[in-house]
Parts: sequence; C-alpha cells; structure tokens
Amino acid sequence: MTKTIDQRVAEQIKNSQTFLVVSHIRPDADAGGSVLGLGLALKSAGKTVQLVLADGGEKFHYLPGWQQIVSAPTRPADMIIIVDCSGTDRVGDVLDNYGKPHLVVDHHKTNLAFGEINVVEPEQVATAAILFDHIPSWGLTINADIATCLLAGIVGDTIGFRTPNVDAELMRKAAALMDLGGDLPRIYNEELVLRSFIATRYWGAGLTRLESNQGLVWTSLTLADREEIGYPSDDDADLVNVLSAVREAKIALIFVEQPNNSVKVSWRTGPEFDVSGIAYQFGGGGHAAAAGADIEGTLADVKRRVLQETRKLLESSSH
Ligand code: AMP
Ligand code: MN
Ligand code: MN
Repeated sequence: MTKTIDQRVAEQIKNSQTFLVVSHIRPDADAGGSVLGLGLALKSAGKTVQLVLADGGEKFHYLPGWQQIVSAPTRPADMIIIVDCSGTDRVGDVLDNYGKPHLVVDHHKTNLAFGEINVVEPEQVATAAILFDHIPSWGLTINADIATCLLAGIVGDTIGFRTPNVDAELMRKAAALMDLGGDLPRIYNEELVLRSFIATRYWGAGLTRLESNQGLVWTSLTLADREEIGYPSDDDADLVNVLSAVREAKIALIFVEQPNNSVKVSWRTGPEFDVSGIAYQFGGGGHAAAAGADIEGTLADVKRRVLQETRKLLESSSH
C-alpha cells in the first residue's frame, strides 16, 4: 500500500533527531508562529531543533520560545523544514549549501513545491492552520505554548479574522486552539493593535503622503523617513493594513524604499480582486487579498510601473 503524505512525514520525523525549521525574511506572525509552533512541538518530542529566521526573532517577543530563534543555522540537520515560503528566495541566504528541503509546509498558491515532500494547501488562511491540522498525524502534540504560536499565525494572516477567506470552520480551529491554551485577546493586541511610538511616527510620515485615485490608495516610505525617525527595520510597520481600511481603497498599496536600488511593494484588497497575479508578475507572490514583491528600480520608477499595472487590473474587471 502506498503511504500517505502524512505517514511519510511522520516516519521521517520519527527517524530524524536533528531539525532545522525555517521561514521567510521580513517574517510576519504566520512565519514566526509556524516556526515556533512546529519547532516547539518537535522539541517536546525530544528532538534537537534550530529555529531559524534570517531577520531574527525579536519581533515575536510575545510568543513562547522566541528567544530560541537564531538568524542562521550553525550546524547541519537530519531534516530541513521550510514553512510559509513560496520559494527558496524567500528564505534569504541562510540555507545556501543546505540542499533541497525535506519538507515544505505552505499556503501560498504561488508555491513552487520546492521540497522533497510538499504539504501545500492554498485554500488555508495560514500555514499555522495547516500545521494545526497535520501536527497530530505527524506524531506530535499541541500544548498551550504551541497553540499560542499557531493562533498568532492565524490572527496575523487573517488580519484579525477579517480577510474574505475567514469562515466558520476557521473559527472552530481558532476556538480549539483557545481550548488548548491560546490567549486570543493578548495575541490580538500584541500582533495587531500595539505599536511602538517610533513605528507610529513612521506611519505618520507615510500618511502625510497618502494618495487616492479612482479606487487605488497608496503611499510610500523612504530611506530618509527611516533615518529621520529612527525606525529600525526595512518594512512598512504594517502601515498597509491601515491603508486598506480606507473606504475608497479597492486596492491599497505601499512602496517601501530599500537600499541597493529596490522597492518592497505590498498590495491589499477585498474579495472582488486577486492581487497575487500582479505580485507574481513583478517577481513576488502571495495571496488573493494580500501580496508583495521586491522590485528593482528607483522609488519613482517602481511606483509608476506598479500603479500602471494595478490600474489595469482594476479596470479589467467589471466591478
Ligand atoms: P507583505 O505585503 O509583505 O505583507 O506580504 C503579503 C503576502 O505576500 C505574504 O503572504 C507574503 O508571504 C507574500 N510576499 C510578500 N513579498 C513577497 C515576495 N517578495 N515574494 C513572494 N511572496 C511575497
Ligand atoms: Mn508569511
Ligand atoms: Mn502565511
């Protein structure tokens, strides 16, 4: 009889002692929560695990185990697992020379199935939700700490249960994670509400340049903003989620200027549009309602090209 994928994963986990669990650069709560959730589950089973995020784990200070996250692996492992990444380029350079991953767990429909075993379920709202479904059949258990990490992934990727893919089944999963010990109000506040003073001032810089034109709402954050305000990361501090709250925004975009002549673009939209294709077209990826890309060029040039293509997407649909 052929083995199911879950049986193959369970067997490989059982036969391995050392693990690398890795997710993407500029990690979101689904990346952090999935690395920690799966990593802690493996540790509880007596395995030796390196938890790896190229940008470090600081951002997840509210999640159990975050201090165990390292920015690069220091030794090889029997089993390499990549979570919440559509392709190897999203991992950064931390896995250069480590070969093909043994297991990829992801929910991006742009996933390239780049592992030996791929558990890719694009219909799921978060990689953490996939892990919730599969961890028990991989011979692992979900304790309160693991439940907290997985719930954080779900809260993050659904922006607090408000993306169009949220349904009753997902709420039952979230409730099950709460039964297991996940603290929803705390996760919600830490992930989506509380921001540092500096991050809020950084939002301010972006909001002073906010623009709106026939269904598109966008702004940019420059290297000069970051320097002037002292914002320490190269992301948008989730400002794009604020833009998507603008009623006039059928599609919201943010342009974050990066060193080395490139721009990080994020798209957000509601149920009527799918922005994953346009992100893919620019070399990125993501989901129907939330997608991103790292695009070469000056801020002005990338803005012009991306707004032009996004405008076409808006106009090509009959909405
Ligand atoms: P972001 O706009 O960075 O918050 O990302 C929104 C979604 O798009 C997330 O699911 C990301 O994993 C995905 N994404 C963002 N940037 C990229 C990229 N450069 N390549 C592939 N997927 C991306
Ligand atoms: Mn992610
Ligand atoms: Mn995700």
